[in-house]
Amino acid sequence: MKYKRKIITGLTAALLFAVAVPFCTLAAPAEKNPQAAQDIVVVIDPGHGGSNIGGQIPGVDEKNATLVTALAMKEELEKYEGITVYLTRYGDQELSLAERPRLAKAVNADFFFSIHYNKAVPNRLYGAEVWIPSLGENYAKGYACGDLILNELCDTYGLYRRGIKTKLNDKGTDYYGVIKNATALGIPSMIIEHCHIDNEVDVPFFNSPEKLVLLGRLDATGVAKYFGLKSEVLGVDYSSVPKTVVAAPTSAVSQDLTPPETADILTASKADGKIIATLQGSDSQSSILYYDYSLDGGLTWSILHKWDSAGVANTVTIPADGDSLTVRIYNQYDLASQSRTVVLTK
Ligand SMILES: [Zn+2]
Repeated sequence: MKYKRKIITGLTAALLFAVAVPFCTLAAPAEKNPQAAQDIVVVIDPGHGGSNIGGQIPGVDEKNATLVTALAMKEELEKYEGITVYLTRYGDQELSLAERPRLAKAVNADFFFSIHYNKAVPNRLYGAEVWIPSLGENYAKGYACGDLILNELCDTYGLYRRGIKTKLNDKGTDYYGVIKNATALGIPSMIIEHCHIDNEVDVPFFNSPEKLVLLGRLDATGVAKYFGLKSEVLGVDYSSVPKTVVAAPTSAVSQDLTPPETADILTASKADGKIIATLQGSDSQSSILYYDYSLDGGLTWSILHKWDSAGVANTVTIPADGDSLTVRIYNQYDLASQSRTVVLTK
């Protein structure tokens, strides 16, 4: 999610945009079908655009991937009754982080979804995450809807669940521009980071146009469940799908700024060229996501492995031989604590 760009380029693009792409790219509310006055209105924002390419790997520009996914999300949502869907852009335009929620406000949106693909330096992270507003009803709505979307992306499709997250800036308000601006306009919002385009674990989940479309359909299913929609065409009725209810926080929910409190190796032994170890990891402020290991006292480290345990203890098999084992355990915000080094004997 790269938003930095040169001011001059931004101004030029904004002027060009004002001339070339009038505001009415997004159909005005007056054009809505009067028969559908009670429709839920959703605005989908394909992240980046124009000179703001977003994340890039050979063959994939984030700005194009987000548009494919957003268009598919719209098409799928329109199979349901009682919903009207707009995109903030239908082509390769550059929009500011303020314009995007303003377009949602112009059509009186009930929810604003910003579509992204992730990239991290170094490229060790993988999985799907949702960023939501930090405060009040928008947090509670973001949480409930984000949970249903992640159910589709992760439980149904198989992406690793990095969770529902908030991020505050130094002033203690929402860090992400589209979330901050949507909140200021009274619109619930979220950023969906579908997967990490620079990590081989996630590559099989997005590496064709069909998969970018499928990701948009999965988003749509989550949103349809959130709003309890029905679709005759699809033959589904989500009017009684349960939602995760969280209280609306009265003070901003901060990201976890500290690494896991516990990172330990409880037991470790060598067997048949492998190491069997029981790891212990805990963090009172966020969940444990990954671990990695070193067999040379911390000089070199493995890739990140999934913390496939709901609990504090996790028994893992390390397919390597070694005389010592050290692990690092990572929380939901990718902060790690390192264990002591355990000497391994047969
Ligand atoms: Zn992005």
